[in-house]
Formats: sequence, structure tokens, C-alpha cells
Amino acid sequence: MTVQRFDVAVVGGGIAGVSAACFASADHSLVLLEQERELAHHTTSRSAAMFLEDEGRPVFHRLSMASRAFFEADHPELDAPLLDPLPVLKVGTEENHDEFVEATATQVTGKIRLVDERELPELCPILRPGVATVGLYEATAASVDVMALHQLFLRRARAAGAEVRRSAQVIGIERRADRWRLSTTVGDVEADVVVDAAGAWGDRIAALAGAEPVGLTPFRRTAFTSPIDADPSSWPFVYAPSSHLHCYFKPEAGNQLLCSLADETPSDPCDARPEEVDVALAIDHINELTTLELRSVARAWAGLRTFAPDRDPVFGWDDRVDGFLWVVGQGGTGIVSAPAAGEIVAALLAGRPLPRAVIDQGLTETQLAPRRRG
Ligand SMILES: Cc1cc2nc3c(=O)[nH]c(=O)nc-3n(C[C@H](O)[C@H](O)[C@H](O)COP(=O)(O)OP(=O)(O)OC[C@H]3O[C@@H](n4cnc5c(N)ncnc54)[C@H](O)[C@@H]3O)c2cc1C
Repeated sequence: MTVQRFDVAVVGGGIAGVSAACFASADHSLVLLEQERELAHHTTSRSAAMFLEDEGRPVFHRLSMASRAFFEADHPELDAPLLDPLPVLKVGTEENHDEFVEATATQVTGKIRLVDERELPELCPILRPGVATVGLYEATAASVDVMALHQLFLRRARAAGAEVRRSAQVIGIERRADRWRLSTTVGDVEADVVVDAAGAWGDRIAALAGAEPVGLTPFRRTAFTSPIDADPSSWPFVYAPSSHLHCYFKPEAGNQLLCSLADETPSDPCDARPEEVDVALAIDHINELTTLELRSVARAWAGLRTFAPDRDPVFGWDDRVDGFLWVVGQGGTGIVSAPAAGEIVAALLAGRPLPRAVIDQGLTETQLAPRRRG
């Protein structure tokens, strides 16, 4: 049987894989291999779907800023914009005061401002008086239509000739002369380059190809929706980082909140399941922080947020294994950074400099490279 040959094989059909395929398939013949029957089955379909610039480490702030133009552009394939404005209000107590002042002073984005206790109820009327005493407000944040974004990338990749194979788990990656042979559960393919967009499984894909793992850790986070008696559409997304209140909630259509303890529990790569204790604690914390009195859960789920040891993204060529390109370690910001990530992958594959929007943010290949610590 002849084995089909491509320039590029992308492993993983989450947002990282389809964004890479979208931007790279104009220059290359490309196959995207996804182990599940559905693309975006894992972390991509389990997020809180927020676009905010002041989240994660500064490199992610810069990637999100570099991605904003894509999110705000008019995409003719879409019926509605990708973003729906939704400010973010980070709230804290006395213990957070100095940290919030410092965050405002050292911010990369210029988008957050400090909020005092008097303004908090104006921004979010259901905060319980006297509990939160300080805030950080990002007025330009938004809710993202993640599935529309995923579909847009996929559609453009296909239109440029990319092939998508589902239920195609990559089980072997072997270097034969100057190219790769990828064995999958539905047959083999050959490619000059492997792009590792396998999320929580990123190090496992690298190991199959003989590349040294970068030390990724997937962290489980549980989320759930809870019905409420009020219309939350004028409230912001609220996040409380202090330990005894740790939680977030997001207004959703149909008088519901999307809630989470914002927990981080190390996990093996797997089909993550929600933890009841994390749901119960989140409800306690939200009820302490607000006057809401949440009682019930409509739906709960969990996803894996996967980080490199320094919590910066790993986007770049492996320096020891030829033809192996990493796009992993997106942690809790893989949706907002996806347009920039896809453009970075395309630039590296084509041997071009990083995209202008990424360079303008002061980012370099070295900062993003897998062995930046070595
Ligand atoms: C509760 C929660 C809230 C979040 N909120 C936000 C948010 O508001 N904003 C934001 O930007 N980000 C958020 N994130 C993070 C974001 O969802 C992730 O960063 C992003 O989805 C990662 O995408 P990915 O494509 O790297 O991973 P995934 O979506 O997990 O995709 C990786 C794919 O690789 C496939 N794969 C693995 N191994 C193989 C193999 N051997 N063969 C073939 N395929 C394979 C998997 O099946 C999977 O489909 C959140 C995450 C969670 C869990």
C-alpha cells in the first residue's frame, strides 16, 4: 500500500492544531491527525471562553495582544463576531491590595486599572458588601465563540487543501532518511515535518519522535454551570485569586453562571472528569463572595491546562531532533493566543521571521523556544 506523503503532519485537532493548519496550509501540503472521533474533544471545548490580555505570564499577555486584531477582524465566513464584550473584574481583599497595585504599575497591556471598594458594587452589584475590598478591571475583555474560531481555522485549512484525519491516534513516529513516518490507528503517513500540537500529550508525542520532553504538566480544572434567579448580562466576569475565596464566575445566556474554583490539580494526560469537591468548594466561595446563594449545578466538566515548567509557551523547533516543531504549553490562554500561535508556526515552517504583530510585542524566537533554559 502506498503511504501518502505531506510536507507537514500536525498532531492534535484542538485549537493549537487547527490554528497551525490554518496558517501553514497555504505554503505546505498538510495533514492534521486527531486521535478522537471529534476534533476539539479535549481542552479546547472545555474552556471558559474568555479573551483577556492580562492573564498568565507576560509572554502570554503579548501573544494575546498580538492576536487581538484577528479576533476583531471581520471574517466573511462568520455570521457573528468572534468576541462579545465582557469586562473582567479581578477582586481581592486586603491580602491582595499590594499585589494588585504592583500589577497595575508593572502591567504589559495597559488595559487594567485599580478599582477601590466604593466602585466594586457599581461594576458588579451582587458582590457581598465588605468581602472584596479592591479590584482590577479589564474593560476591553470579551467572551469568545471558541467553536466558531475553531471552525474558522479548520475551514480555512481545508480550503487551502489540508487533509483532516479523525480517529487517527499517532502511535509511532520514526525518522526514515530525511522524513518522518507516522503510524496511526488508521494507517501511516509520511511528512517532512511533525508539528506537535497534542496539548496534554505533547511530551508523549515528542518521546515517540525521540525528542527530549520539555517537562509539560497538565493541571485539571473543574468548571460547571449554575442556574440563578437574576439576569447576569450586565455583570462582568469575576475572578477572586485569594486563597479563601478562590473562584471565578462568568455570566452566561439563559440566567446561568459558568463557575469554577480555578483549581489546578496535576494530572496525567487523560479525558479529564470534574471533581465534586471542587464544585462544592467553588459554590461555597462564590456564595461567600456574592449575595447569590448558588444551590444547583446544571452541567459540570473538567479540562487540562498544560504548562511548561516556567509557564511560558513552547513554540519552536526542537534543537536536537530535525523536523520537529513544538506548539504546546498554552496553559490557560490557548484560545486567546491561538491566532498568534498559528502564525508563528507558519512563519517557522516557511523559514520566515516571526509575524510582525508578534515582533511588535517584543517577542523573540528564543523566548518561545523549547530549550530556552538550556
Ligand atoms: C476550565 C478551563 C478554562 C479555560 N479558560 C480559558 C479561557 O478563558 N481562555 C483561554 O484562552 N484559554 C482557556 N483555557 C485554556 C485553553 O482551553 C487551552 O489552552 C487550549 O484549549 C489548549 O488547546 P490545545 O489544542 O493545545 O489542546 P487540546 O484541545 O487538548 O488539543 C490537543 C489534541 O491533541 C490530540 N492528541 C493527543 N495525542 C494524540 C495522538 N497520539 N494522536 C492524535 N491526536 C492526539 C488530543 O486528542 C486533543 O484533541 C481554559 C482551560 C480550561 C480547562
